[in-house]
Amino acid sequence: MSTIFTKIINREIPADIVYETENVLAFRDINPQAPTHILIIPKIEIPTVMDLKPEHSGIVSELFTVANKIAVQEKISEEGFRIVINCGPKGGQEVYHLHLHLLGGRQMTWPAG
Ligand code: 5GP
Repeated sequence: MSTIFTKIINREIPADIVYETENVLAFRDINPQAPTHILIIPKIEIPTVMDLKPEHSGIVSELFTVANKIAVQEKISEEGFRIVINCGPKGGQEVYHLHLHLLGGRQMTWPAG
């Protein structure tokens, strides 16, 4: 089932897009939890980590390659940042379209809540 992220991919609703490739889109989170909070998503609909299959290895790799490039673009590559993937209800996932959260610009703490 499609989510609001498909509408962002299709430009049916606006988003602050920071990076795009043929397969991946990245845009600022509407409710940022850090000075830099960017969502990196595949353009194909994969609901959760548990839906990943071997044929998705290329897209998974590209999600991280794009995270690397955005970290440089956002000037947080040297000071450090955090990548989070929530999965399912107890993982705190709200939007069932696979996404990386790229968080930076402040000190992260551990364990996360
Ligand atoms: P999840 O909890 O599924 O890991 O994260 C979903 C994220 O999507 C949340 O951080 C939430 O703020 C963000 N989000 C939800 N709807 C929208 C939207 O319409 N636009 C943008 N830019 N972010 C959204």
